[in-house]
Amino acid sequence: MPSATVEDYIKHIYALEEASENGEASMGRVAEALGVVPGTATTMVKALAEAGLASYSPRVGVQLTQQGRALALHVLRRHRLIEQFLVEVLGFDWSEVHEEAELLEHVISDRLLERIDRRLGHPTEDPHGDPIPNAEGELRADQFESLADCPTSIPHEVARVSDQDNAFLNYLTEVGLNPGERVVVNSRSSGADAVTLSVGASDKTLTMGMGAAQKILVRPLA
Ligand SMILES: [Zn+2]
Repeated sequence: MPSATVEDYIKHIYALEEASENGEASMGRVAEALGVVPGTATTMVKALAEAGLASYSPRVGVQLTQQGRALALHVLRRHRLIEQFLVEVLGFDWSEVHEEAELLEHVISDRLLERIDRRLGHPTEDPHGDPIPNAEGELRADQFESLADCPTSIPHEVARVSDQDNAFLNYLTEVGLNPGERVVVNSRSSGADAVTLSVGASDKTLTMGMGAAQKILVRPLA
């Protein structure tokens, strides 16, 4: 089994690739994501390349190989199934589970993982609305708009929250913006950095900044 450090690098490189236009992660971004100095990141990425998990070129950066991608998706599967298990079965709040999953994702066996999956009825989403890769390592591709760019005055539902910070998730729980909740964007003002929303069946009105609105991904309600 690869070490927790290897898995963390692979996971972060995967996320950076997904977020980049050309599917590559620059070494600067990798170092920043892992919280290490660039020299440390370069040494590690060279080791990943030697292990066949990534390819590395000094000028362009790093790109996962097929094997590296498969490992990244397996770590994501572990992470997201653990989060779902902690919420569904153990009664954790969705704002608490990310940190627990960061630790557990590196240590649980495939056997335990598949038992969790079966117990949960093979869920396709974690508590934050993130898709869970299936046992074959396939991941549903989601393209959601956010509260910062979706059409106004049209009912949407919260699909996914792209920030797992405790304080942010607690805020969302407080105002009722959990995944599955109905929400309508009434107006936006970039000048005032404000998005005005109606939330839930009661249409409770609420204003938040553009930065927060960007992190809340939504789909139109049919
Ligand atoms: Zn998480």
